[in-house]
Amino acid sequence: MEFIREYADWFYLIGAVLFILTLRGLSGPKTAIAGNRYGMIAMAIAVLTTFFVADNPVVWMIVGAMVLGAIVGIARARTVPMTQMPETVALMHSLVGLAAVLIAIAAIIHNNKLVELGPDLLAANGINFHEMSKVHLFELFVGCFVGAITFTASVFAYGKLAAKKWAKTISGAWVKPVQALIFIAMLGFGIHFFLTGNMISFWAMTGLALAFGWVWIAPVGGGDMPVVVSLLNSFSGWAAAGIGFTLENNMLIVAGSLVGSSGAILSYIMCKAMNRSIINVLFGGAMGGAAAPTAGAGEQVQRNYRSGSADDAGFLMSNADSVVIVPGYGMAQGRAQNAVKELANLLKEQGVTVRFAIHPVAGRMPGHMNVLLAEADVPYEDILEMDEINSDFPATDVVLVIGANDVVNPAAKDDPNSPIYGMPILEAHKARTIMVIKRSMATGYAGLDNDLFYNDKTMMIFGDAKKVVEDMTKSINGTGH
Ligand code: NDP
Repeated sequence: MEFIREYADWFYLIGAVLFILTLRGLSGPKTAIAGNRYGMIAMAIAVLTTFFVADNPVVWMIVGAMVLGAIVGIARARTVPMTQMPETVALMHSLVGLAAVLIAIAAIIHNNKLVELGPDLLAANGINFHEMSKVHLFELFVGCFVGAITFTASVFAYGKLAAKKWAKTISGAWVKPVQALIFIAMLGFGIHFFLTGNMISFWAMTGLALAFGWVWIAPVGGGDMPVVVSLLNSFSGWAAAGIGFTLENNMLIVAGSLVGSSGAILSYIMCKAMNRSIINVLFGGAMGGAAAPTAGAGEQVQRNYRSGSADDAGFLMSNADSVVIVPGYGMAQGRAQNAVKELANLLKEQGVTVRFAIHPVAGRMPGHMNVLLAEADVPYEDILEMDEINSDFPATDVVLVIGANDVVNPAAKDDPNSPIYGMPILEAHKARTIMVIKRSMATGYAGLDNDLFYNDKTMMIFGDAKKVVEDMTKSINGTGH
């Protein structure tokens, strides 16, 4: 044990390097498994080292908390459906924020208790006490309010993604002034606490930061939620780094900074993918007020569209030279990824070139489609990003859209009045024939009608994604009927 104490910083350094390798590994599907392994080893090193360097670890409390956390974590990991991952992730961010707040509160209360005892009494009991430095107070002040904002904002994001009634989008002229007021008051109390150590100011700052997290995220439109979740990921990292300063733990500072900066980079990439500016997402309110989640319910004004059967689609695809599959949230919802892979394999056996086109915000979390296709063992070389495939659509015989809607909505390109105008899309409308599998004519996440479904070249195939795809496979195999 002495050995671990003595070389703690070295162990932390090894952990930090492994965390960097983790991020590097996770940046590509082929190296992702190795990346995950590095992460697990790094985390084990970090936790064990911290355990042994603690001054007087209250062993039963730490072990108890870890066992409890592991039980909840394993149970949740086993039961959570892929479609609920985004809200689960949001909920986990909230816990990091809460931890930062609780640690800041504990550090301050502990310090105040020591101050009350007085330096003489402490010295008599062998406790070496230095009054909290200004730098330390500043870390606590920042760590606490970033944590508090992360906590309530993430709880709200969870509610919104899970379509909870209490997580309603707010709008109105009053929102921005109220946000500004709360923010300024929060900073004011925080600065007063920093200058004087006044506890009332500390509690007021914490309470206002909690309120700010809520009013800050509540007006953000449904279409901007992916960026928000990724930003909260970044925030939770900075909050963890803040805890690292409070606890003087280098490992936590490094790991928190890695999460904070990688989350910030991801948010930037997602903003670019949606043609949004981060400032606009955070302070612009809802996307034109229209892009709220609809839970797929909104029926549209009557317009003509063409529908066909799985047999028709199977026939057309097996006679095509090239097919591009565009998966979306509906493929995740219908758990159709394995069936889709079977279909793709069958078409390939028949000499059809089959590729997958992935939009950066398809589904409900970053990388959602990549994860599902990897789970189904679709070869990585068949999976193309938006920029790689968009120019190929005009020469593509058939585009098969499986449960995607917003990410192929041409209004984003053609209709300046559309709330999603400017968002880059997969240009499926340019293909020779378009087939769309979905259960109805309902809208997608952004709540918008989609001209693609009414295009002369489009055939709608209604039904659950998995069932329809399986029927297509049967039909091509000649075993359907
Ligand atoms: P959309 O939400 O736009 O559309 C999904 C479509 O799938 C719906 O129109 C629905 O139609 C259909 N569907 C649902 N269930 C099934 C099923 N079982 N079988 C067949 N079809 C089904 O999804 P996209 O992937 O195109 O776009 C993602 C949207 O989510 C974007 O607006 C994005 O901004 C947003 N978002 C993305 C996040 C991310 O990080 N990726 C996070 C949060 C939001 P029907 O009901 O008729 O079947």
